[in-house]
Amino acid sequence: MRSVTIFGATGSVGEAALALIAHDPARWQVDTLTANTNAKRLAELAGQCGARHVVICDESKRDELVQALAGTGVEVSAGRAALVEAASRPVEVTLAAIVGAAGLLPTLRAAERGGIIAIANKEALVCAGPLILAAAARSGARLLPVDSEHNAIFQVFDFERPERVARIILTASGGPFRQMSTEDMRSVTPEQAVAHPVWSMGAKISVDSATLMNKGLEMIEAERLFPIAEPQIDIVVHPQSIVHSFVEYVDGSLLAQLGTPDMKTPIAYAMAYPDRIETPAEKLDMIAAAKLTFEAADERRFPALRLARAALRAGGSSPVVLNASNEVAVERFLDRRIGFLDIPALCEETLAAVGNCPAGHLDEVVDCDARARSVAARIADEWEKRA
Ligand code: NAD
Ligand code: MG
Repeated sequence: MRSVTIFGATGSVGEAALALIAHDPARWQVDTLTANTNAKRLAELAGQCGARHVVICDESKRDELVQALAGTGVEVSAGRAALVEAASRPVEVTLAAIVGAAGLLPTLRAAERGGIIAIANKEALVCAGPLILAAAARSGARLLPVDSEHNAIFQVFDFERPERVARIILTASGGPFRQMSTEDMRSVTPEQAVAHPVWSMGAKISVDSATLMNKGLEMIEAERLFPIAEPQIDIVVHPQSIVHSFVEYVDGSLLAQLGTPDMKTPIAYAMAYPDRIETPAEKLDMIAAAKLTFEAADERRFPALRLARAALRAGGSSPVVLNASNEVAVERFLDRRIGFLDIPALCEETLAAVGNCPAGHLDEVVDCDARARSVAARIADEWEKRA
Protein backbone atom coordinates (compact mmCIF):
# COMPACT_ATOMS: atom_id res chain seq x y z
CA MET A 1 0.00 0.00 0.00
CA ARG A 2 1.21 3.51 -0.86
CA SER A 3 0.01 6.72 0.74
CA VAL A 4 -0.88 9.47 -1.73
CA THR A 5 -1.76 13.15 -1.66
CA ILE A 6 -3.25 14.82 -4.74
CA PHE A 7 -2.91 18.56 -5.23
CA GLY A 8 -5.53 19.60 -7.78
CA ALA A 9 -7.73 16.53 -7.26
CA THR A 10 -10.73 18.02 -9.07
CA GLY A 11 -8.77 18.70 -12.26
CA SER A 12 -8.31 16.60 -15.35
CA VAL A 13 -5.04 15.03 -14.09
CA GLY A 14 -6.31 14.74 -10.50
CA GLU A 15 -9.47 12.94 -11.61
CA ALA A 16 -7.47 10.61 -13.88
CA ALA A 17 -5.26 9.71 -10.89
CA LEU A 18 -8.33 9.04 -8.77
CA ALA A 19 -9.71 6.79 -11.53
CA LEU A 20 -6.46 4.81 -11.31
CA ILE A 21 -6.82 4.58 -7.54
CA ALA A 22 -10.43 3.39 -7.91
CA HIS A 23 -9.18 0.75 -10.37
CA ASP A 24 -7.08 -0.91 -7.62
CA PRO A 25 -8.07 0.63 -4.28
CA ALA A 26 -6.18 -1.92 -2.17
CA ARG A 27 -2.91 -0.48 -3.44
CA TRP A 28 -3.46 3.10 -2.24
CA GLN A 29 -4.19 5.01 0.95
CA VAL A 30 -5.29 8.53 0.07
CA ASP A 31 -4.19 11.12 2.60
CA THR A 32 -5.11 14.58 1.24
CA LEU A 33 -7.10 15.86 -1.73
CA THR A 34 -7.12 19.57 -2.61
CA ALA A 35 -9.23 21.80 -4.84
CA ASN A 36 -9.44 25.50 -5.55
CA THR A 37 -13.20 26.21 -5.36
CA ASN A 38 -15.26 23.12 -6.20
CA ALA A 39 -16.28 21.96 -2.70
CA LYS A 40 -19.04 19.68 -3.95
CA ARG A 41 -16.78 17.66 -6.24
CA LEU A 42 -14.00 17.58 -3.66
CA ALA A 43 -16.37 16.08 -1.07
CA GLU A 44 -17.60 13.45 -3.57
CA LEU A 45 -14.06 12.46 -4.50
CA ALA A 46 -12.99 12.26 -0.86
CA GLY A 47 -15.95 9.98 -0.11
CA GLN A 48 -15.16 7.72 -3.07
CA CYS A 49 -11.47 7.21 -2.31
CA GLY A 50 -11.60 7.33 1.50
CA ALA A 51 -9.34 10.40 1.84
CA ARG A 52 -8.40 11.40 5.39
CA HIS A 53 -8.09 15.12 4.76
CA VAL A 54 -9.29 17.69 2.24
CA VAL A 55 -8.19 21.26 1.56
CA ILE A 56 -10.25 23.87 -0.26
CA CYS A 57 -8.30 27.02 -1.21
CA ASP A 58 -11.35 29.25 -1.38
CA GLU A 59 -12.14 29.92 2.29
CA SER A 60 -15.69 30.99 1.46
CA LYS A 61 -16.36 27.35 0.53
CA ARG A 62 -15.26 25.93 3.88
CA ASP A 63 -18.79 25.66 5.37
CA GLU A 64 -20.16 23.98 2.26
CA LEU A 65 -17.33 21.43 2.42
CA VAL A 66 -17.75 20.82 6.17
CA GLN A 67 -21.48 20.22 5.64
CA ALA A 68 -20.94 17.90 2.69
CA LEU A 69 -18.53 15.80 4.75
CA ALA A 70 -20.43 15.91 8.07
CA GLY A 71 -20.24 12.59 9.91
CA THR A 72 -17.59 11.11 7.61
CA GLY A 73 -14.59 11.85 9.85
CA VAL A 74 -12.76 13.52 6.95
CA GLU A 75 -10.67 16.42 8.27
CA VAL A 76 -11.39 19.72 6.46
CA SER A 77 -8.97 22.64 6.02
CA ALA A 78 -9.32 25.84 3.99
CA GLY A 79 -7.15 28.61 2.63
CA ARG A 80 -3.82 28.97 0.87
CA ALA A 81 -1.73 28.44 4.01
CA ALA A 82 -3.55 25.15 4.63
CA LEU A 83 -2.79 24.14 1.04
CA VAL A 84 0.94 24.58 1.57
CA GLU A 85 0.79 23.00 5.05
CA ALA A 86 -0.83 19.91 3.54
CA ALA A 87 2.38 19.29 1.61
CA SER A 88 4.22 18.76 4.91
CA ARG A 89 2.11 15.74 5.86
CA PRO A 90 4.14 12.57 5.38
CA VAL A 91 3.08 10.55 2.32
CA GLU A 92 4.94 8.31 -0.09
CA VAL A 93 3.57 9.89 -3.27
CA THR A 94 2.56 13.50 -3.92
CA LEU A 95 0.82 14.23 -7.21
CA ALA A 96 1.40 17.90 -8.08
CA ALA A 97 -1.55 18.55 -10.42
CA ILE A 98 -2.55 22.14 -9.69
CA VAL A 99 -2.60 24.29 -12.83
CA GLY A 100 -0.35 27.33 -13.03
CA ALA A 101 2.17 29.02 -10.76
CA ALA A 102 -0.44 28.61 -7.98
CA GLY A 103 1.01 25.12 -7.58
CA LEU A 104 4.54 26.32 -6.92
CA LEU A 105 4.50 26.62 -3.12
CA PRO A 106 2.87 23.25 -2.34
CA THR A 107 5.09 21.53 -4.91
CA LEU A 108 8.20 23.07 -3.43
CA ARG A 109 7.10 22.17 0.10
CA ALA A 110 6.51 18.57 -0.96
CA ALA A 111 9.97 18.44 -2.56
CA GLU A 112 11.43 19.68 0.72
CA ARG A 113 9.62 16.93 2.61
CA GLY A 114 10.55 13.98 0.36
CA GLY A 115 9.02 10.88 -1.21
CA ILE A 116 7.94 10.59 -4.81
CA ILE A 117 6.79 13.87 -6.35
CA ALA A 118 4.81 12.99 -9.46
CA ILE A 119 4.87 16.35 -11.17
CA ALA A 120 2.24 17.42 -13.70
CA ASN A 121 2.38 21.10 -12.69
CA LYS A 122 4.85 22.20 -15.40
CA GLU A 123 4.43 25.90 -14.55
CA ALA A 124 6.08 25.28 -11.15
CA LEU A 125 9.11 23.78 -12.91
CA VAL A 126 9.20 26.61 -15.46
CA CYS A 127 9.18 29.26 -12.70
CA ALA A 128 11.33 27.58 -10.08
CA GLY A 129 12.87 24.43 -11.52
CA PRO A 130 16.27 24.94 -9.88
CA LEU A 131 14.68 25.57 -6.46
CA ILE A 132 12.50 22.46 -6.70
CA LEU A 133 15.44 20.33 -7.85
CA ALA A 134 17.67 21.63 -5.07
CA ALA A 135 14.98 20.95 -2.45
CA ALA A 136 14.52 17.42 -3.79
CA ALA A 137 18.28 16.82 -3.73
CA ARG A 138 18.41 17.87 -0.06
CA SER A 139 15.44 15.76 1.06
CA GLY A 140 16.03 12.80 -1.23
CA ALA A 141 12.64 13.36 -2.91
CA ARG A 142 12.30 11.70 -6.29
CA LEU A 143 10.87 14.00 -8.97
CA LEU A 144 9.03 12.00 -11.63
CA PRO A 145 7.48 13.71 -14.65
CA VAL A 146 3.79 13.11 -15.35
CA ASP A 147 3.64 15.29 -18.46
CA SER A 148 3.37 12.61 -21.15
CA GLU A 149 6.37 13.83 -23.19
CA HIS A 150 8.68 14.07 -20.19
CA ASN A 151 7.42 10.81 -18.81
CA ALA A 152 8.26 9.20 -22.16
CA ILE A 153 11.74 10.75 -22.16
CA PHE A 154 12.29 9.66 -18.56
CA GLN A 155 11.47 6.09 -19.55
CA VAL A 156 14.12 5.96 -22.31
CA PHE A 157 16.78 8.41 -21.08
CA ASP A 158 20.14 6.88 -20.11
CA PHE A 159 20.82 8.85 -16.93
CA GLU A 160 24.13 7.01 -16.48
CA ARG A 161 25.45 8.27 -19.82
CA PRO A 162 23.76 11.64 -20.41
CA GLU A 163 26.69 12.69 -22.63
CA ARG A 164 25.61 9.98 -25.08
CA VAL A 165 22.28 11.72 -25.63
CA ALA A 166 22.47 13.82 -28.81
CA ARG A 167 19.08 15.47 -28.37
CA ILE A 168 15.57 14.99 -27.14
CA ILE A 169 12.63 15.51 -29.46
CA LEU A 170 9.34 16.53 -27.90
CA THR A 171 6.31 15.53 -29.90
CA ALA A 172 3.47 18.04 -30.22
CA SER A 173 -0.05 17.22 -31.40
CA GLY A 174 -0.17 20.61 -33.11
CA GLY A 175 -3.47 21.47 -31.40
CA PRO A 176 -6.78 22.33 -33.02
CA PHE A 177 -5.30 25.03 -35.30
CA ARG A 178 -2.40 23.02 -36.66
CA GLN A 179 -3.32 23.73 -40.27
CA MET A 180 -4.97 27.12 -39.84
CA SER A 181 -3.58 30.35 -41.32
CA THR A 182 -2.66 33.21 -39.01
CA GLU A 183 -5.45 35.24 -40.56
CA ASP A 184 -8.05 32.62 -39.61
CA MET A 185 -6.60 32.25 -36.12
CA ARG A 186 -7.37 35.91 -35.47
CA SER A 187 -11.04 35.18 -34.86
CA VAL A 188 -11.05 31.76 -33.17
CA THR A 189 -13.22 31.44 -30.07
CA PRO A 190 -12.41 29.96 -26.66
CA GLU A 191 -14.73 27.04 -27.51
CA GLN A 192 -12.70 26.23 -30.63
CA ALA A 193 -9.43 26.59 -28.74
CA VAL A 194 -10.35 24.22 -25.91
CA ALA A 195 -11.68 21.54 -28.27
CA HIS A 196 -8.44 19.59 -28.48
CA PRO A 197 -8.39 17.01 -31.29
CA VAL A 198 -6.70 14.26 -29.22
CA TRP A 199 -6.32 14.99 -25.50
CA SER A 200 -9.08 15.88 -23.05
CA MET A 201 -7.61 18.38 -20.57
CA GLY A 202 -8.26 21.43 -18.40
CA ALA A 203 -9.09 24.76 -20.12
CA LYS A 204 -5.72 26.47 -19.52
CA ILE A 205 -3.54 23.70 -20.92
CA SER A 206 -5.97 23.25 -23.81
CA VAL A 207 -5.50 26.89 -24.83
CA ASP A 208 -1.74 26.44 -24.34
CA SER A 209 -1.91 23.48 -26.71
CA ALA A 210 -3.69 25.62 -29.29
CA THR A 211 -1.07 28.42 -29.16
CA LEU A 212 1.72 25.81 -28.77
CA MET A 213 2.78 27.68 -25.63
CA ASN A 214 2.29 24.30 -23.99
CA LYS A 215 5.15 22.91 -26.08
CA GLY A 216 7.19 26.02 -25.32
CA LEU A 217 6.68 25.53 -21.57
CA GLU A 218 7.54 21.86 -22.07
CA MET A 219 10.89 22.78 -23.64
CA ILE A 220 11.71 24.71 -20.48
CA GLU A 221 10.33 21.87 -18.33
CA ALA A 222 12.62 19.41 -20.18
CA GLU A 223 15.69 21.55 -19.58
CA ARG A 224 14.83 21.50 -15.84
CA LEU A 225 14.21 17.77 -15.63
CA PHE A 226 16.97 16.29 -17.78
CA PRO A 227 20.74 16.86 -17.97
CA ILE A 228 20.56 18.53 -21.40
CA ALA A 229 20.89 22.07 -22.76
CA GLU A 230 18.56 24.23 -24.85
CA PRO A 231 20.18 23.50 -28.28
CA GLN A 232 19.57 19.78 -27.68
CA ILE A 233 15.81 20.19 -27.37
CA ASP A 234 13.77 19.89 -30.56
CA ILE A 235 10.09 19.73 -31.36
CA VAL A 236 8.26 17.74 -34.00
CA VAL A 237 4.54 17.87 -34.72
CA HIS A 238 2.92 14.45 -34.52
CA PRO A 239 -0.87 14.83 -34.81
CA GLN A 240 -1.75 11.29 -33.64
CA SER A 241 -0.04 11.76 -30.24
CA ILE A 242 0.99 8.12 -30.09
CA VAL A 243 4.76 8.59 -29.93
CA HIS A 244 5.04 10.56 -26.69
CA SER A 245 8.61 11.80 -27.41
CA PHE A 246 12.05 10.63 -28.53
CA VAL A 247 15.59 10.48 -27.19
CA GLU A 248 18.27 10.46 -29.88
CA TYR A 249 21.65 8.94 -28.99
CA VAL A 250 25.05 9.72 -30.55
CA ASP A 251 25.06 6.38 -32.40
CA GLY A 252 21.89 7.34 -34.29
CA SER A 253 19.49 5.26 -32.18
CA LEU A 254 16.18 6.94 -31.61
CA LEU A 255 14.32 5.61 -28.55
CA ALA A 256 10.68 6.42 -27.94
CA GLN A 257 7.78 5.51 -25.70
CA LEU A 258 4.43 4.90 -27.38
CA GLY A 259 0.86 4.47 -26.20
CA THR A 260 -2.67 5.73 -26.64
CA PRO A 261 -3.10 9.38 -25.62
CA ASP A 262 -4.34 8.70 -22.08
CA MET A 263 -2.78 10.45 -19.07
CA LYS A 264 -3.50 7.42 -16.88
CA THR A 265 -0.42 5.68 -18.32
CA PRO A 266 2.19 8.34 -17.37
CA ILE A 267 0.38 9.03 -14.06
CA ALA A 268 0.52 5.31 -13.20
CA TYR A 269 4.18 5.11 -14.15
CA ALA A 270 5.06 7.98 -11.79
CA MET A 271 2.77 6.95 -8.93
CA ALA A 272 3.83 3.28 -8.90
CA TYR A 273 7.50 3.89 -9.75
CA PRO A 274 9.60 1.79 -10.17
CA ASP A 275 6.85 -0.80 -10.46
CA ARG A 276 4.39 -0.91 -13.37
CA ILE A 277 0.72 -1.36 -12.69
CA GLU A 278 -2.30 -2.36 -14.71
CA THR A 279 -4.35 0.66 -15.83
CA PRO A 280 -7.75 1.19 -17.48
CA ALA A 281 -6.00 3.06 -20.33
CA GLU A 282 -6.82 1.59 -23.71
CA LYS A 283 -3.91 -0.40 -25.15
CA LEU A 284 -2.43 0.79 -28.43
CA ASP A 285 -3.71 -1.10 -31.45
CA MET A 286 -0.95 -0.47 -34.00
CA ILE A 287 -2.91 -1.93 -36.89
CA ALA A 288 -5.87 0.36 -36.18
CA ALA A 289 -3.58 3.36 -35.64
CA ALA A 290 -1.93 2.42 -38.97
CA LYS A 291 -0.30 5.72 -39.77
CA LEU A 292 2.04 7.87 -37.70
CA THR A 293 2.95 11.18 -39.29
CA PHE A 294 5.49 13.86 -38.40
CA GLU A 295 5.87 17.44 -39.59
CA ALA A 296 7.92 20.52 -38.70
CA ALA A 297 6.61 22.97 -36.10
CA ASP A 298 5.91 26.42 -37.57
CA GLU A 299 7.30 29.18 -35.36
CA ARG A 300 5.86 31.88 -37.62
CA ARG A 301 2.26 30.79 -37.13
CA PHE A 302 2.95 29.79 -33.51
CA PRO A 303 5.20 32.54 -32.08
CA ALA A 304 4.84 31.10 -28.56
CA LEU A 305 7.49 28.55 -29.58
CA ARG A 306 9.97 31.28 -30.44
CA LEU A 307 9.19 33.21 -27.24
CA ALA A 308 9.65 30.14 -25.06
CA ARG A 309 12.94 29.19 -26.66
CA ALA A 310 14.20 32.76 -26.25
CA ALA A 311 13.11 32.75 -22.59
CA LEU A 312 14.88 29.46 -21.99
CA ARG A 313 18.04 30.82 -23.61
CA ALA A 314 17.87 34.09 -21.70
CA GLY A 315 17.24 32.26 -18.41
CA GLY A 316 16.97 34.33 -15.22
CA SER A 317 13.49 35.74 -14.77
CA SER A 318 12.41 35.31 -18.41
CA PRO A 319 10.65 31.95 -17.93
CA VAL A 320 8.82 33.35 -14.87
CA VAL A 321 7.64 36.40 -16.82
CA LEU A 322 6.69 34.32 -19.85
CA ASN A 323 4.63 31.98 -17.71
CA ALA A 324 2.92 34.71 -15.68
CA SER A 325 2.00 36.79 -18.75
CA ASN A 326 0.71 33.68 -20.49
CA GLU A 327 -1.52 32.85 -17.51
CA VAL A 328 -2.96 36.38 -17.60
CA ALA A 329 -3.39 36.20 -21.38
CA VAL A 330 -5.12 32.81 -21.36
CA GLU A 331 -7.52 33.92 -18.65
CA ARG A 332 -8.43 37.04 -20.62
CA PHE A 333 -8.82 35.06 -23.82
CA LEU A 334 -11.17 32.62 -22.06
CA ASP A 335 -13.11 35.67 -20.77
CA ARG A 336 -13.30 36.96 -24.38
CA ARG A 337 -11.42 40.13 -23.49
CA ILE A 338 -8.53 39.54 -25.91
CA GLY A 339 -8.17 37.58 -29.14
CA PHE A 340 -6.27 34.36 -29.70
CA LEU A 341 -3.31 36.04 -31.43
CA ASP A 342 -3.11 38.51 -28.54
CA ILE A 343 -1.94 35.71 -26.24
CA PRO A 344 1.65 35.48 -27.55
CA ALA A 345 1.59 39.23 -28.31
CA LEU A 346 0.83 40.00 -24.66
CA CYS A 347 3.61 37.68 -23.53
CA GLU A 348 6.08 39.36 -25.87
CA GLU A 349 5.14 42.88 -24.75
CA THR A 350 5.25 41.90 -21.08
CA LEU A 351 8.68 40.28 -21.48
CA ALA A 352 9.98 43.49 -23.06
CA ALA A 353 8.34 45.74 -20.45
CA VAL A 354 9.43 43.80 -17.36
CA GLY A 355 13.00 43.16 -18.50
CA ASN A 356 15.14 41.30 -16.02
CA CYS A 357 14.23 40.96 -12.36
CA PRO A 358 16.06 38.83 -9.81
CA ALA A 359 14.57 35.32 -9.74
CA GLY A 360 17.06 33.18 -7.83
CA HIS A 361 15.35 32.93 -4.44
CA LEU A 362 11.78 31.91 -3.81
CA ASP A 363 10.58 35.36 -2.71
CA GLU A 364 12.18 36.84 -5.83
CA VAL A 365 10.34 34.35 -8.04
CA VAL A 366 7.07 35.16 -6.27
CA ASP A 367 7.68 38.92 -6.63
CA CYS A 368 8.67 38.60 -10.28
CA ASP A 369 5.57 36.50 -11.01
CA ALA A 370 3.36 39.15 -9.34
CA ARG A 371 5.09 42.00 -11.15
CA ALA A 372 4.73 40.31 -14.55
CA ARG A 373 1.04 39.67 -13.88
CA SER A 374 0.37 43.30 -13.06
CA VAL A 375 2.36 44.55 -16.09
CA ALA A 376 0.52 42.11 -18.38
CA ALA A 377 -2.83 43.18 -16.94
CA ARG A 378 -1.96 46.85 -17.42
CA ILE A 379 -0.94 46.32 -21.06
CA ALA A 380 -4.10 44.33 -21.77
CA ASP A 381 -6.24 47.00 -20.06
CA GLU A 382 -4.71 49.58 -22.39
CA TRP A 383 -5.53 47.40 -25.39
CA GLU A 384 -9.14 47.13 -24.20
CA LYS A 385 -9.42 50.91 -23.80
CA ARG A 386 -8.08 51.45 -27.29
CA ALA A 387 -10.41 48.86 -28.87
P1 NAD B 1 -7.45 21.50 -14.52
O1 NAD B 1 -7.80 22.91 -14.78
O2 NAD B 1 -8.31 20.44 -15.04
O3 NAD B 1 -7.34 21.28 -12.93
C1 NAD B 1 -6.59 22.13 -12.13
C2 NAD B 1 -6.67 21.72 -10.67
O4 NAD B 1 -5.95 22.71 -9.91
C3 NAD B 1 -8.09 21.70 -10.09
O5 NAD B 1 -8.18 20.71 -9.10
C4 NAD B 1 -8.23 23.09 -9.45
O6 NAD B 1 -9.13 23.09 -8.36
C5 NAD B 1 -6.81 23.34 -8.97
N1 NAD B 1 -6.49 24.78 -8.98
C6 NAD B 1 -6.68 25.65 -10.01
N2 NAD B 1 -6.28 26.89 -9.65
C7 NAD B 1 -5.83 26.78 -8.39
C8 NAD B 1 -5.30 27.72 -7.47
N3 NAD B 1 -5.18 29.02 -7.79
N4 NAD B 1 -4.93 27.28 -6.25
C9 NAD B 1 -5.07 25.99 -5.90
N5 NAD B 1 -5.57 25.05 -6.73
C10 NAD B 1 -5.95 25.45 -7.96
O7 NAD B 1 -5.95 21.30 -14.99
P2 NAD B 1 -5.28 19.98 -15.60
O8 NAD B 1 -5.57 19.89 -17.04
O9 NAD B 1 -5.57 18.80 -14.72
O10 NAD B 1 -3.73 20.35 -15.48
C11 NAD B 1 -3.05 20.35 -14.24
C12 NAD B 1 -1.56 20.51 -14.49
O11 NAD B 1 -1.10 19.36 -15.19
C13 NAD B 1 -1.21 21.71 -15.38
O12 NAD B 1 0.02 22.25 -14.96
C14 NAD B 1 -1.06 21.09 -16.75
O13 NAD B 1 -0.16 21.81 -17.58
C15 NAD B 1 -0.49 19.73 -16.41
N6 NAD B 1 -0.77 18.70 -17.42
C16 NAD B 1 -2.05 18.35 -17.67
C17 NAD B 1 -2.34 17.38 -18.62
C18 NAD B 1 -3.76 16.95 -18.92
O14 NAD B 1 -3.95 16.00 -19.66
N7 NAD B 1 -4.76 17.60 -18.39
C19 NAD B 1 -1.29 16.77 -19.32
C20 NAD B 1 0.01 17.15 -19.02
C21 NAD B 1 0.26 18.11 -18.07
MG1 MG C 1 2.51 17.35 -22.43
